[in-house]
Amino acid sequence: MKVLVIGGGASGMMAALTAAEDPNNTVTLLERQNRVGRKLLATGNGRCNLSNIHADVSHYHGEDPGFVRFALERFGVDDTLTYFKSLGLLTVTEDSGKVYPFSDQANSVVDVLRFALERHGVQVLCSREVISIGKKARGYTVKTAEESFYCDKLIVACGGAAGSKLGGTDFGYRLLASMGHSCTSLSPSLVQLKTDTSFTRSLKGVRADAKLTLKQNGTTLLENRGEVQFTDFGISGPAVFEISRYASDRKDLLLLLDLLQPMQEEELCDFLLQKQSGAPEAPLEDFLTGVLHNRLGRVVLQYLGLELSLPASAADCKKVAHLIKFFPLTITGTMGLEQAQVTAGGVPTSEFRPDTLESRRNPGLFATGEVLDIDGDCGGYNLQWAWSSGRLAGKLGGNKI
Ligand SMILES: Cc1cc2nc3c(=O)[nH]c(=O)nc-3n(C[C@H](O)[C@H](O)[C@H](O)COP(=O)(O)OP(=O)(O)OC[C@H]3O[C@@H](n4cnc5c(N)ncnc54)[C@H](O)[C@@H]3O)c2cc1C
Repeated sequence: MKVLVIGGGASGMMAALTAAEDPNNTVTLLERQNRVGRKLLATGNGRCNLSNIHADVSHYHGEDPGFVRFALERFGVDDTLTYFKSLGLLTVTEDSGKVYPFSDQANSVVDVLRFALERHGVQVLCSREVISIGKKARGYTVKTAEESFYCDKLIVACGGAAGSKLGGTDFGYRLLASMGHSCTSLSPSLVQLKTDTSFTRSLKGVRADAKLTLKQNGTTLLENRGEVQFTDFGISGPAVFEISRYASDRKDLLLLLDLLQPMQEEELCDFLLQKQSGAPEAPLEDFLTGVLHNRLGRVVLQYLGLELSLPASAADCKKVAHLIKFFPLTITGTMGLEQAQVTAGGVPTSEFRPDTLESRRNPGLFATGEVLDIDGDCGGYNLQWAWSSGRLAGKLGGNKI
């Protein structure tokens, strides 16, 4: 059988390798960039957080997150790590559950996949951008600007629109639309947030371990804990990424940061009062030294409009304690799909079979990874979906239940 895979990213390479395990298949992979796995190289800050041992349905989003269940059960984290080991890749699991290559280099993951594609006889054609697909009486035709291909089974693994500098495009959605599929609205997920930076601009580079409470018109939408990094446009960091999918399509959002989680507000206030009575003449300028990062402490005092050359009063201590526990940031937007790691939304999973990833409209057509309306949490869940879905689609319907 002739199998064609469009997209040499994580899920496409996995799908091609899986399809090539059947000696009756000849497999061709078309990639628009000049090499396969370009986005993979940038994942995990160049370390490639390729999975997470906690991967289950609860870490996925979309109209029907339960869609991932079958693929994850058929080819879960253990299967994935065993598979990569069989390709020659050793991995290490951090306490958080995140899995990385032992080499700590994303290119190790790309390389073992590339070598395996070669060994399995997959024809990899790079710099081939698929511009259209069409249905024949049997099979599909696939066109690039210069060539035309025929296949019995077609796997669309074009990824999502996020991370456009690394190859993210809307091609997959468009190609599938030409075959009668629809697409939900798309929004960025796992992305930095823009905030009002009037007070925080000077904090660029400062990191804080905080509790984040996302509010809309006074109602709490969700809470999260973890590292927040201040930037010149707003905030970044793992804890911010995790709430970003809820911030991307909502307005009137306020984020409250608890900058000193170990202490309750009252306890903190008592501590500050003690600090103040121990050095009643000390100027406010140094009041938060030893409590917060110096620059963060200064911003807290400036936010309250306090005169830094004067000593702290008891009333100041109360206000400062409150602001440290509830530091407000007005969210003004996200850094968009270009900067996002993942696309929330995509081709509705209801249009594909969960047990095979075959199109319900177009038999013999499969879709994998991010092009589908599935996005995962931060921490290796998106790549796990890419591996699991690539593996399932590469079986070409052989798993049908
Ligand atoms: C900066 C960054 C860091 C990330 N870090 C992590 C991480 O550490 N852990 C994690 O789990 N996830 C991470 N992700 C998300 C993860 O990389 C993606 O979810 C995953 O790669 C999706 O796999 P995919 O196969 O669906 O798409 P991709 O890996 O994006 O592959 C799609 C491929 O299809 C090709 N293509 C598209 N259209 C065409 C066409 N018309 N013709 C031919 N080829 C085409 C593209 O060039 C691309 O190579 C990160 C994403 C980014 C942007």
